[in-house]
Amino acid sequence: MRSSTGLLGLLASLGMACAHPARGSIDSDLIGKLSTGASISHNASVFPRWSEFGAPHPGTIVSVATEADVQATVQYCVSKNIPFLAQNGGHGWSGAFTLGESGVLINLRGLNNTVFSADKTQATIGGGAIIQEVINQAYANDVQILTGNCNCVGALGAGLGGGYGNLMGLYGFSVDNYLSFNVVLANGSLVTVTPEQEDLWWALRGAGPNFGIVTSAVMKSTPLAQADNVAWTGGLWFTEDKIEQVTQAIEDLKLEAHMNIFLYFLTSNGEPTVLVTVFYYGTEADGREAFKSIIDIGPYDDTTAVLPQNEWNAGADGFCTKGERKPTYSAGFDHFVPTTWRQIWNDYTEFLTNPNTSATTVVVECYSLDKAQSIGSETASFANRDIRFNGFAISWYPDASLDATAKAFGSNFRNLLRADDGLASNRTYVNFAFGDETNQVVYNNNTQRLRQLKKKYDPKNVFNQWFDL
Ligand SMILES: Cc1cc2nc3c(=O)[nH]c(=O)nc-3n(C[C@H](O)[C@H](O)[C@H](O)COP(=O)(O)OP(=O)(O)OC[C@H]3O[C@@H](n4cnc5c(N)ncnc54)[C@H](O)[C@@H]3O)c2cc1C
Repeated sequence: MRSSTGLLGLLASLGMACAHPARGSIDSDLIGKLSTGASISHNASVFPRWSEFGAPHPGTIVSVATEADVQATVQYCVSKNIPFLAQNGGHGWSGAFTLGESGVLINLRGLNNTVFSADKTQATIGGGAIIQEVINQAYANDVQILTGNCNCVGALGAGLGGGYGNLMGLYGFSVDNYLSFNVVLANGSLVTVTPEQEDLWWALRGAGPNFGIVTSAVMKSTPLAQADNVAWTGGLWFTEDKIEQVTQAIEDLKLEAHMNIFLYFLTSNGEPTVLVTVFYYGTEADGREAFKSIIDIGPYDDTTAVLPQNEWNAGADGFCTKGERKPTYSAGFDHFVPTTWRQIWNDYTEFLTNPNTSATTVVVECYSLDKAQSIGSETASFANRDIRFNGFAISWYPDASLDATAKAFGSNFRNLLRADDGLASNRTYVNFAFGDETNQVVYNNNTQRLRQLKKKYDPKNVFNQWFDL
């Protein structure tokens, strides 16, 4: 007897299994419902993603121009049972996307405005704005705002999962700084969600992509003259024999509110090396004092500088390069174990012997958590508030034939971190996760409540592409 999967496969190959409308009829059905600024296309390559590994492959792309366009597209897709996915910056690296040819990608990039209230204490950020756009608007308006640290990433793509950023020692996570959301829900309604809608407000801040498409968010901001919006930041470069000293020093460093520190294994001029980036919101002298234990190890190069906020992220622009394959494995951990990091270095340099892998990078992000932890963990569904360090390994190469080798390298890296993570259970920041994690790993103890709310707000599970509940 033919299995149902086999039968479906046969029907699909004959083009018969799918009840979804053909592309042409999606166009003719939908175009009249959209604003004149919106457009529909069928060439996904025009909207490249950061990583091609496990990327969605939509047959139709609807580029929206208004929040009503988002609403009309969601209503249409739901009514026709068409799978869909919102795309903002396109950097979501989860390899778990299932959207295929019959699916619709809702390209939010047209909703990229950032505007400020008259007193500059609130910013309204469009659901398609990328971090660079938010920072540039803020800086030009004498405003300081919390964002992530890479210019190319979607501001809300990052923020709805939690939102780490340079200023979080002062302000907490992005989820702690939102004041309201305009959201298109699974039932097709466009609603404003504030703390008064307790359940939805909680769910959106940590698991946002599972509950709706946020067309705009109001976020706290701080009026601040450009001259005061500066930090001492940049790179301290170490030879590999210093790995044990560097990792032990990061383990021992108490990060105050103005500080963060990242560790990288990357290549420079074709050679693997160790980079520590430091960030100090304040003067260079105070920054050098705060990071004295790291500087005393003796970097072979120092590329730090005093920079204004609109230049803080420039050093990471290389990571923004879109395209190629970048399977990325990640784990949260509480303690650096120097011998583990020697092993990771050895595995990393061995992986680099594969062809065209020189952009492969290992990263650990370490932020000051005091402010974030002063805000109760029960206030949002974001589950990573208590994690000291987030490590990830980006295997970066053009050719799919290396996938198996890259997955072995990445999963081994994750296993090494998990083995000594000092945590009660495996944990990973949802926005850094590979895609094969259980809900418990990314949502931790919030999993059950999220699942209950999912049944209430999205009973047919139409928002099902991002660490599905
Ligand atoms: C180079 C690089 C740098 C990074 N830096 C940081 C950082 O500094 N801080 C940090 O916290 N994370 C960072 N990340 C991780 C980042 O948070 C995730 O990759 C995030 O998912 C990217 O969002 P995006 O909009 O670019 O991607 P997308 O793939 O467009 O979106 C990711 C997911 O979010 C959903 N989504 C996006 N926008 C909306 C919206 N408006 N409403 C509802 N759902 C939405 C999408 O449907 C998708 O499921 C970085 C990632 C990369 C690749």
